[in-house]
Amino acid sequence: MPEATLSPPTVASEDWTDWRWQMRNRIHSVEALREWIEPTEDEIEAIEKTEGVFRWNVTPYYAQLMDREDPNCPIRRQVIPTMNELEEDLVGVEDPLTEVAHSPVKNLIHNYRDRVAFCVTAECAIYCRYCLRKRMVGDADFFMRTGELQEAIDYIAAHDEIRDVLLTGGDPLTFNEAHLEWLLSRLRAIDHVEIIRFGSRMPVKLPYRITDDLCSLLAKHHPVWVNTHFNHPKELTADAAAAIDRLTSAGVPVGNQTVLLRGINDDVETMKALNEGLVRMRVRPYYLYQAQLIGGTAHLRTPIETGMHIMRELRGRTTGFAIPDYVLDTPHGKVPLHRSYVRGRAGDRVVMETYSGQLWAEPNPIPSDENVPLQLPPIDLPPEADTIDIR
Ligand SMILES: *Cc1c(COP(=O)(O)O)cnc(C)c1O
Repeated sequence: MPEATLSPPTVASEDWTDWRWQMRNRIHSVEALREWIEPTEDEIEAIEKTEGVFRWNVTPYYAQLMDREDPNCPIRRQVIPTMNELEEDLVGVEDPLTEVAHSPVKNLIHNYRDRVAFCVTAECAIYCRYCLRKRMVGDADFFMRTGELQEAIDYIAAHDEIRDVLLTGGDPLTFNEAHLEWLLSRLRAIDHVEIIRFGSRMPVKLPYRITDDLCSLLAKHHPVWVNTHFNHPKELTADAAAAIDRLTSAGVPVGNQTVLLRGINDDVETMKALNEGLVRMRVRPYYLYQAQLIGGTAHLRTPIETGMHIMRELRGRTTGFAIPDYVLDTPHGKVPLHRSYVRGRAGDRVVMETYSGQLWAEPNPIPSDENVPLQLPPIDLPPEADTIDIR
């Protein structure tokens, strides 16, 4: 684990570790940025030209993780605008998941039958350049007034098929404790709401937000789960680990969702280091997302084959629970992008490939139509049959 991050000499450490101080002192000018990095011409121009197109904002804590000189620093590339964002992007759209169409009331996305994503705020501590909800983050139209939050809660109460409520945004942990208590107690009063989960990047960009008070509040409303969003091993600091420890000590299971990003984490070594670092912090890798077709993010998207290759290389070569599910979110739900290891059925054997590429033919009963509707493609025992190792 890296050493504890130190506050710069000009900031008192009780300020530095105060999440409100961090929020008030977020960096959003070239001048303020110069304290942390030497911005390139391209970054400076992009900061000017993306003004009013998409907000940028960086907490001092996260700024400290940036490399001062290297413009390709994976932390920098997640949060500092570049001119690529203004290039023509023929496939990128504003709302690729048609979330607005799936929202029966404002900011409540009811796409799966039994669970909803509830965007309780448009506010975030930092604005990731590839954000899925670029259309809404920081936009006044998407902020929720109390009456609007109540309408969404009423919708959940009126739909007894909803057993799982995902609080997301923006970042729901930008709410203060009183506001969170208001929200959680209302959701908990609904009998059919079994689990409440948070999607929050606070452990990554502002770990001091995970206070003891917050953790006791969450614990009062169990079962509460948190999914966070680490993208790179450089983000796995001692302060982030301490924030995770506070959550897990309060009985909150913590998962992680990573976005596959070109030039940031799209190689086997980085992804392996990230996921192994996460399990050392007792965070369970949950999803690896294929980057969405968001306008102005073409330079960050990878071919799906890149993700599939990374997944292949992880399987069998690290702890099973250090491996996330690689998925693409679509308007029809999340789709796993794993290439199957099962080749097909050759008579009374199912032929499969092992992680190291060997074939294995497992003797296996032939299913009858009534008990298993699924059919494997019929195949011949492959030519490598003489090398097949049969029990
Ligand atoms: C991702 C998502 C969920 C949660 O999906 P899980 O696979 O259960 O994590 C729920 N609703 C919407 C709209 C989502 O995009």
